[in-house]
Amino acid sequence: MRHQSFRHGVHPKEEKSYTQSKSIESIPLPDEVFIPLQQHIGRACTAIVNKKDEVKTGQVIGKASGFISSPVHSSVTGIVKEIGLNMNHLGVRIPTVRIQRTGDDDWQYLTIPDNWQLASSEELNRVVFEAGIVGMGGAAFPSHVKLSPLLEKPVDSFILNGCECEPYLTCDHRIMLEQTDKILTGMAIIMKMLAAKQGFIGIEKNKPDAIKKMREQVKAGDYPFKVVPLKVKYPQGAEKMLIKAILNRKVPTGGLPGDVGVIVHNVGTALAVTEAVVEGKPLIKRVVSMTGDALHSPKNVEIRIGSPLNYIIKHCGGLKEEATSIILGGPMMGVSLFDLSIPIVKASSGVLCTRHPQKSSQEPGPCIRCNSCVSACPMFLLPNRLARFSEKEFYEESDRFGILNCIECGCCVYVCPSKIPLLQWIRVGKFIVNENKKLAAS
Ligand code: SF4
Ligand code: SF4
Repeated sequence: MRHQSFRHGVHPKEEKSYTQSKSIESIPLPDEVFIPLQQHIGRACTAIVNKKDEVKTGQVIGKASGFISSPVHSSVTGIVKEIGLNMNHLGVRIPTVRIQRTGDDDWQYLTIPDNWQLASSEELNRVVFEAGIVGMGGAAFPSHVKLSPLLEKPVDSFILNGCECEPYLTCDHRIMLEQTDKILTGMAIIMKMLAAKQGFIGIEKNKPDAIKKMREQVKAGDYPFKVVPLKVKYPQGAEKMLIKAILNRKVPTGGLPGDVGVIVHNVGTALAVTEAVVEGKPLIKRVVSMTGDALHSPKNVEIRIGSPLNYIIKHCGGLKEEATSIILGGPMMGVSLFDLSIPIVKASSGVLCTRHPQKSSQEPGPCIRCNSCVSACPMFLLPNRLARFSEKEFYEESDRFGILNCIECGCCVYVCPSKIPLLQWIRVGKFIVNENKKLAAS
């Protein structure tokens, strides 16, 4: 099979050396966790605990409210101190359960099948749902929905996404090296759920050790999966780019991977599936890359969901005095933080602490019509025009020009010589176009 690459995209400096060779460290359990009831795409959960309730590690504290929703669990054993509104990374106040830890873990496990290989797809999907698993690569889309393909759209292929194309981030790289067996078991469970005929593991070529380890373990476990080394190019890990690169299939404009018979999941999601289905543990922890030149001791840490960011930073040696910019996520798609007390959530893959602002460090200039943003956009959009439409509040035009197809990869901003905040404007436009569509449908 000849592996293609997608067109356009960019080649940002990788900057992975801060953490890529560092083994994952568990940090001590925090005294308090702050668990938002909305950590996923879809409807927020409803709290099912009250102030002063005692909760166990893994106990459901927020019930899913609809099919596109996902339950949340206590990540420690303790007492509910408060249910109130707390700021999230976007500055939005979200219903949050504050739990004070009272001791070591006393687990409340999921009900799981005796042998997943003999379980039905429905049974496995129930466990994935009850475990509160969402896309761990950053999208946070509820996994049980993605793993319920429509009858009229059969899936023949599954792709495990180990690209980790964002600069700086290395948490997926490390779990591929350190938790290879669990990831492959998760992939086998997902393949069974989807009844997919072929499975691929896509990894960028800048992780030769992960490619080697995956290949060895695939062979040792006699798995029918193919490990596919991919060109190092951003955003190689975006679903549509990955499908094009591995299967040479093009997801139609406005469509989903399922439209071309493919489902894609991140390696972290496969790991969470194994921990749920085999060990009975819901999603209450994750690995996060704490990185950048403004952190005294950059490392990959395994942390409990809801741990405050400043607690984790303290366990990474603290910030250097010159720290100027803290970003949740990587430099391409991440969000600048204004408050270090926000909690780490299911989709938080990294925190980038730098001594130089990663985003535009100069005032935006006028558009010089250089077309660089157009040439960089992997979705073949016109970022300059879409941003302009949003700025001028021409939302119908931006919808007609495909604003909802923007995958928010940040390539356009990266190349713009005038430092125009193209993506920020496009995000505003997408939000309003989506709201207008919801209103029109109601
Ligand atoms: S318009 Fe959207 S998809 Fe295109 S480069 Fe910009 S952020 Fe990426
Ligand atoms: S890259 Fe910037 S300056 Fe060039 S066309 Fe796009 S918006 Fe204008």
